[in-house]
Amino acid sequence: MPAQQPLSPSLSPSPTPSPAPVTVLGLGLMGSALAAALLKAGHPTTVWNRTAAKTGPLAAQGAQPADTATEAITASPLTIVCLTTNDSVRSLLEPEADALKGRTLVNLTNGTPSQARELAAWAEAHGITYFDGGIMAVPQMIATPGAYIFYSGSDEAAFATHRPTLAALADIKWAGTDPGLAALYDLALLTGMYGMAAGVAQAFALTGSEGIPARELAPLLTDWIVAMTHGVVPGTAEALDTDRHLTDVSNLAMNREALPNFTDTFAEQGLRAGLFESLQELLDRAVEQGYGADGFSRLVTLLKKD
Ligand code: NDP
Repeated sequence: MPAQQPLSPSLSPSPTPSPAPVTVLGLGLMGSALAAALLKAGHPTTVWNRTAAKTGPLAAQGAQPADTATEAITASPLTIVCLTTNDSVRSLLEPEADALKGRTLVNLTNGTPSQARELAAWAEAHGITYFDGGIMAVPQMIATPGAYIFYSGSDEAAFATHRPTLAALADIKWAGTDPGLAALYDLALLTGMYGMAAGVAQAFALTGSEGIPARELAPLLTDWIVAMTHGVVPGTAEALDTDRHLTDVSNLAMNREALPNFTDTFAEQGLRAGLFESLQELLDRAVEQGYGADGFSRLVTLLKKD
């Protein structure tokens, strides 16, 4: 008589896998937040930091401090690194190639797409599975709703293995198998943020030049930027993807004529023109090239170097 068949997987109670061990290298503000989130999710977490004293608060939360990076790396199949720059990542990890061999490295250090591709090539040459990441959160937002991290790397199947661990940090946005793409998306979003921050600084400087308290402008500016963003961002994307830049809303020729009102006022109020100088140059070029009837989406195409 054949042995009793096991129950079908859908009927058997599937055992909950225990949280996988993980190592975190770099316990600055961000690395500490990442390690704390992993500990909170129940992952056995080994931590290492160049300045050893920073392991203290995490050890108090249950982390295992390691004396050396090698010891930390060999404690887990997955190592997350978060240092100041990718130069520091290279100088720390190049001597650790043997320890990392056959393991997975997730690099959440902010960097460029080409740095990510170079690190991925180095990792591949040493038998290390590599993923690059871009964190869209400040440390206080880690493991809270709204925080997410872009990831990219060539081995999407291996990424699936580590998803449950990485999900403890923030929502996951898979950017693609080109390892440079997480950094590219990260920098694109931060580019929008820096542009906004430069505009916000200029606006506060302008009202401040007449002694208006910043808190009076703040709610007006917030509502205005949010309303404009909802129109401008999707509208620009639609124009770019369809290559239709003509506008019946706000054309470049009109904006070019209006811009001196800003730059003249900044000068009169004793302020630098900041980012408006490069905007003026871009608008001049657009109109000179015959794009005066187009909308702001046309400026995107003019940012390409000849
Ligand atoms: P911190 O300055 O708080 O920490 C930097 C970390 O890098 C420390 O652990 C430091 O070690 C380590 N480090 C620097 N150089 C070396 C080196 N040569 N060898 C070994 N370790 C080194 O920075 P954050 O934690 O805030 O940022 C880390 C990364 O996260 C950056 O790339 C940042 O851009 C990114 N990020 C940060 C965000 C934030 O809001 N903080 C948001 C999104 C991304 P030691 O303690 O010994 O100095």
